[in-house]
Amino acid sequence: MTTPIGKCRRTQYSKEVTPELNGKEVTLTGWIHEIRDLGGIIFVLLRDRDGIIQITAPSKKISPELFEEIRHLKKESVLAVNGMVQDSPKAPGGVEIIPQKVNLLNESKLPLPLDTTEKVRAEIDTRLDSRFLDLRKHNVSSIFKIKSRMLHSVRVFLEENDFIEINTPKLVASATEGGTELFPITYFEREAFLGQSPQLYKQMMMASGFDQVYEIAPIFRAEEHDTLRHLNEAISIDLEAAFCDEEDVMKILENLVANAIKDVKEHCPDELETLNADLEIPETPFQRIDYDDVIDMVNSKGVALRHGEDLSRAAEKALGEIMDGYYFITGWPTDIKPFYVMPNQEDPKKSCAFDLMYRDLEISSGAMRVHLHDLLVERIKKQGLNPDSFNRYLAAFEYGMPPHSGWGLGAERFTMCMTGAQNIRETVLFPRDRRRLTP
Ligand code: ATP
Ligand code: MG
Repeated sequence: MTTPIGKCRRTQYSKEVTPELNGKEVTLTGWIHEIRDLGGIIFVLLRDRDGIIQITAPSKKISPELFEEIRHLKKESVLAVNGMVQDSPKAPGGVEIIPQKVNLLNESKLPLPLDTTEKVRAEIDTRLDSRFLDLRKHNVSSIFKIKSRMLHSVRVFLEENDFIEINTPKLVASATEGGTELFPITYFEREAFLGQSPQLYKQMMMASGFDQVYEIAPIFRAEEHDTLRHLNEAISIDLEAAFCDEEDVMKILENLVANAIKDVKEHCPDELETLNADLEIPETPFQRIDYDDVIDMVNSKGVALRHGEDLSRAAEKALGEIMDGYYFITGWPTDIKPFYVMPNQEDPKKSCAFDLMYRDLEISSGAMRVHLHDLLVERIKKQGLNPDSFNRYLAAFEYGMPPHSGWGLGAERFTMCMTGAQNIRETVLFPRDRRRLTP
């Protein structure tokens, strides 16, 4: 029989129940992880957000009614338990709870579509289908606690560095880069798209006098390919700053990354341990490697890469075999970077663009941008695009646009680096990919 929650409230989380509380009365809430009935004694493992605690019910020490009640409990049902803390070196965490009262708040249907013990391995698709159950596993929820802390530390860092948080539209009239990676939607009687990047908006904000802005928001990309690094909806940490060049925003990026890692290491030791993730705080400045040298490095591994080509997956892997940790790739050819990237003054074939890599994974792209109207129009045309479809954007460059630079950092890819997740889907609660639109 379930009971209403009434006045019953949790006094602490299971991980806060330490042997020092021996003899104290506590109320815990959670899910029944496991139940073991040994006849004269029943052990219930109660799992809450951060841990698992043992409820020990010996028939000799508790009332027959309570003992019967506990005997009928089922796995994954929701429970509130009131009882006495008893230190017990043999129990997990060194404590157990001798129950005085249990409140069955809701029962779980059995059998479960997905086992909630970490030991039982299931295919990622099965797990994602029953994501709410999957997330009950601490090795899964740890990834999201780390992601949450990372985003928190990024916000604090940017606020402390005087950035203003902005929100730009995700319903847009045309492509950012004229690319094919767009999702068309119906916008009343017109066609519109889901925003693939806040790029053009954050640049227009540079003409507003806000100086330093950031946005943490979804980007939508109609990536055709099913890879372990691409999603169709991802969170981008985007930043744009005026009166500076690419080196200035690279410094912000490397400091932000190192700071977030330090913060996660400090605040998520249990989650990192659960994931077996050995997080090293990277030293700044990160190494900068010129694109020309990247070609030699990739070729030295027997992987073909010609000048003027973007890095193939094979090239990224080859690079990842040579490079450990975080590093920048600079000096990208202008031709393979978007129109808004500033060409190098001395050598216009090269651009002021950079990528931030972690081993073989690109986690951020950035650049000094073109702030001169005529050069921008020329660049748009050169990329085979029509400047007319960018007129509202281009207007911002005619009335006092300061020089500016910025970058976009993928929140999920950065989370992969921190947690060791090999599949980007592990870092999203409800991933959107080529085949998945539910749940
Ligand atoms: P890639 O070459 O790996 O497909 P990209 O160069 O197309 O990435 P950018 O347009 O430079 O990506 O976006 C900036 C950052 O946003 C990327 O470095 C990455 O961290 C993240 N990002 C971009 N597209 C995706 C995606 N489809 N899924 C997850 N993260 C993405
Ligand atoms: Mg990129």
